[in-house]
Amino acid sequence: MSPTHAPVGAARQGSLRELNLALVLGRIAAADRPPSRADLATATGLTRATVSAVVEDLLAGQLVSEAEPAPRAGAGRPARGLVLADQGPAGLGLEVNVDYLTVCVVDLAGQVRHRTVHRADLRPVAPEDALARLVDLAGQARADAARQGLTLAGAALAVPGLIDEAGKVRLAPNLGWRDVPVPELLSAHPPLTDRVPDVPALVVDNEANLAALGELHSRPPGPASFLHISGEVGIGAGIVLDGALFRGVRGWSGEIGHLPVHPQGRPCRCGGRGCLEQYAGQEAIVAGAGLVRAELPADTATARLAELAEAGEPAALRALNDAGTALGVAVAGVVNLLDLDTVVLGGGYAPLAPWLCPPVLAEIKARVLTAAWSPVTVRPSTLGPEAAAVGAAGSVVRRIVARPAGWLNRAG
Ligand SMILES: [Zn+2]
Repeated sequence: MSPTHAPVGAARQGSLRELNLALVLGRIAAADRPPSRADLATATGLTRATVSAVVEDLLAGQLVSEAEPAPRAGAGRPARGLVLADQGPAGLGLEVNVDYLTVCVVDLAGQVRHRTVHRADLRPVAPEDALARLVDLAGQARADAARQGLTLAGAALAVPGLIDEAGKVRLAPNLGWRDVPVPELLSAHPPLTDRVPDVPALVVDNEANLAALGELHSRPPGPASFLHISGEVGIGAGIVLDGALFRGVRGWSGEIGHLPVHPQGRPCRCGGRGCLEQYAGQEAIVAGAGLVRAELPADTATARLAELAEAGEPAALRALNDAGTALGVAVAGVVNLLDLDTVVLGGGYAPLAPWLCPPVLAEIKARVLTAAWSPVTVRPSTLGPEAAAVGAAGSVVRRIVARPAGWLNRAG
């Protein structure tokens, strides 16, 4: 036998252990109630001894913990179930948007353990300065996470724009960013997280995509196929089909804000005319309601609109109805094309949903061929305005759960 066989055998051993770790941890993550070791042996087809050894590794690595035993009426020792740990590795989620920065930390169980929203108009701010502010906030998040026994194992950053495979922001029209090499700019700062094998230190992704992923993985689980629309100054959509994000050929799908709703209409920042964003973006709604956005503090535009609508103020109600109608025209086109039955309104749209949903539904009813016998649900996101940052952190956590050996094998 050639000596080269030895390392191959060793690699196989390593791979089998890694596969078993991922298999057992995946079952614990997906379970409705904390499974016992015996449940895990049944579910995975592994022997009880193998499951016990794998669980010991996961417990030692702070990836799982033993749940409090459920009280039992009968005699006998209650079996202790296993749950994802609330200490150990966690994901860092970041978002840069037109008028805010968000930083959050999500633990393995999906709980948000830290969140900061820093409101500021970032359009006049240079990208490197906006990222420097974000690094400061991330540093505070890391310290807070450490106090809670959490180690940041990777980060994902949401940006409202077109991101290429290297993480460069090719274009974020509402932020005024073009060809911004985000990973390179961030590398000038101290690392945001610990270094963990198999977990990318930083992933940059589109804000609407990450918000849609956050919605997809929220609990209780929703539908496997839906359209998630993030309504801020810009409007982005995440298309989820059969439990996976549809990214398009180059990863740039979902630019619903630039669907034309009035082909000869208002000029748009993208160079086109009559784009949805010009009629249903936050600035259009604010202007339609007779408010001057520059006079509103950065965080108050959506809240102020909701307040006026609540009070029955006619201009605000009309502006929201017009925005909802334009949004409904675009959504009806998407539903006709993709045959979806759920539309989730996220970001700044979520608090305005009581006024946006009726006109959106009216357009769907009028324009979607199948609407008469296949109703479409339109509802607000349950994740709140920080959906993209929570989705970003959740994407890190799912990588750790999918490949736990990287965390267990890390140095130190
Ligand atoms: Zn446009």
